[in-house]
Formats: sequence, structure tokens, C-alpha cells
Amino acid sequence: MKVGILGGGQLGRMLLQAAANYTVKTYVLENDDDCPAAHLCHHFIKGDIKNFNDVYNFGKQLNALTIEIENVNIEALEKLESEGVKIYPNSAALKIIKNKILQKQFYQQYQIPTAAFTITNTIEELKTQASFLPAVHKIGEGGYDGKGVQLLHDETHIHKGFEGASVLEKMVKIKKEISIIVAMDSKGNTAIYPPAEMVADPVLNLLDYQISPAIIPEKTLWKAEAIARTVVKNLNSAGLFAVELFISDTDDVLVNETAPRVHNSGHHTIEANYCSQFDMLWRIILNYPLGNTKPILPSAIINLLGEENYNGNAVYQGLQDVMQFENIFVHLYGKTITKPGRKMGHITIMSSDYKDLTHKAHKIKQMLKVKS
Ligand code: ADP
Repeated sequence: MKVGILGGGQLGRMLLQAAANYTVKTYVLENDDDCPAAHLCHHFIKGDIKNFNDVYNFGKQLNALTIEIENVNIEALEKLESEGVKIYPNSAALKIIKNKILQKQFYQQYQIPTAAFTITNTIEELKTQASFLPAVHKIGEGGYDGKGVQLLHDETHIHKGFEGASVLEKMVKIKKEISIIVAMDSKGNTAIYPPAEMVADPVLNLLDYQISPAIIPEKTLWKAEAIARTVVKNLNSAGLFAVELFISDTDDVLVNETAPRVHNSGHHTIEANYCSQFDMLWRIILNYPLGNTKPILPSAIINLLGEENYNGNAVYQGLQDVMQFENIFVHLYGKTITKPGRKMGHITIMSSDYKDLTHKAHKIKQMLKVKS
């Protein structure tokens, strides 16, 4: 079977690592031939995942395609699908998720709890929505890793909003942010991973560290699992999905957004769960039974981000010392150049003791720095 991945970043790289266990020929489409996935696939094709011809020509030689990022040419995927290429997730689900406005309307249509919202098309229009603040402004398409999101606490922040079709969403008083990965096979069977709990870095607005399974009351867990399953069932597509949820200060569970692909919040599943999210997606694509999502041990993930003020060839300061810790797993993404805030790798820590996890997470964050 010939399977293509649109995008050659670290997620594509980890997918390819898992593919090595199966009989599958892998293809990657990406603009940068030195990207993290380029050297692990059987066939690397240089091209633009947003360009119709590049995606169509890449896909027409394949049996199946998946993505590692949403920002891809949907029209090409629709044509490929009509010609019999299987797309995970299907183009209809991808179309909904790719656009934050359509995604919010989808939650509304299926009565899936999510923060109240309105749509704005210009800054001028946004200015008329002062009574909706505090709110979060999210660009409809093209935002990624916190770059298309602005917190508008009051009217003095309105100038930070986006020109163009965007969602203006009520600000939720967040107690916890969790993510639940749900897998659905072509027959509609689902498998659900335990939630992962995020702790964010307020400066870079990127994930700081993560603990899994999340420490939440059983009732909240049931609510969150039911919501995550409802999202995926209604998206009506085989594939792997990460449903990001807020638990509010009043213990309401609300969907923030869904990613239709393997996700950063599931990196720990490589070591810490019986079946990793990457293995799970291959099982779906290759028509094998779904895997076991149970945790082997609780785990934490730390992202290795490029330090402020360092640009150039990456050096992992403190790595020798960190690697002496018990039950830690290092993943470097093979990026030669570091930049401030760039995701260079991650570390998974496993321990039966949650205190040990957070203690080690903080310690590793202090000890290990990506410099140049
Ligand atoms: P991205 O797609 O760039 O990851 P998100 O929609 O996940 O953007 O938003 C990034 C972060 O902004 C969230 O993790 C959360 O901390 C904050 N955020 C987003 N929406 C809201 C909201 N309605 N209320 C409060 N905080 C929010």
C-alpha cells in the first residue's frame, strides 16, 4: 500500500517512525527538503501542500493520504477522494475543521458545548462588538500555534483583532485545558485515549508541559469523553482527532477546537500508552483493528523550545545530565537551526507518582536549554 503524508514536520516524522512496523510505502509532500520527515520516508516529493496541482499530482499515485497539518489544499483532496484515494480524515471533515467559523457552527449544529461566539469580518465590525468583551478573537483560516488568536480583555485591546473573517468567542474562565484523542476506523468503531492536561506558557502561548492522564473528577471525565466522542461521530470520518476542551471554573466542559490529525498532546502515547497515536492512525489507514489506548504509566511531556536570543545551529545544553534520569525519553526532531520559540523536540517522563512527574518536569525545564 502507498500512503502519503501532507507536511513533513515533526508529526510526519513520528508517523513515519511508527510506519516502520508495517508493510507500507511512505510518501511525503513538503516544500523544504531538509524537513524533519524528509529522511524517514521512502519517497520525498518537494512541493506546496497548499497548491492544487502539487497535492493532486502527489496524491494520484497513492492509495491513501493523511495530513500532519490542516493547512492543505482541500479542492485537490476532494478530487482525489472522488477518484478513489482514501483521505484520513475525509475532505468534508477537514473542510469543517480547517475553518474556525465552520468549526464553531458545526459544534452549534450538533449542540456540542462550546463558548458563545459571533462572527466578524473587519476590525470596524469588531469595534461594534465591545459589549461581547472579554472575548477571544480567532482568525477563520490560517492561524496556527496561537498565532491567529488574540485575547481581547477590554476595548483597549480591539486594535489587536484581525481583519477578515474571524470568530469572536466569549472568554472562558478556564480551570483546566485538556485534550482527548479519539480514533475512528472506517467501520465507525472508536477508541478514546485518557485526557492529557495542558499547562501553558503565558508568554509564548505555546504548551509549557503536559500531564496525562489528567487529574480531573470522574464526572468531568465522563462529560469530556462523551463530548469528544460526539464531536468525532458527527464529523463522520475515519481518522484520528484531538479534541481540545476547556474545563471552566464552574466545571462546565466546552470544546475549544478539534485537530483532525495526530497531535502534540499525544506525543507521550509513544512510550506511555500501549498503542501510540501514530500506531493507531496506521491501524486505521491499513484496516487493522484499533489498538489499546490504556496508559502503561502516567506521563509528562516537556516541549524543547528554542531559547530567546539564540539563532543558529542548535546545541542541547544539559542533555547529558537529563538523560541520566530514570524513565525519560528524548525526542529530537532533527532540525539543525534553532530560533526563539521553535519546537525542536520533546521529552516524555514516565512515573507512577504524579509528584515525581511534575518535579522532574520542572527540573528538566531548568536544566535543558536549546541554544546555538
Ligand atoms: P490555536 O489553534 O492557535 O492553538 P486556540 O484556539 O487553541 O489556538 O487558542 C490558544 C489558547 O488561547 C488556548 O489554549 C487558550 O488558552 C486560549 N483560549 C482560546 N479560546 C479561549 C476562550 N474562549 N476563552 C479563554 N481562553 C481561550
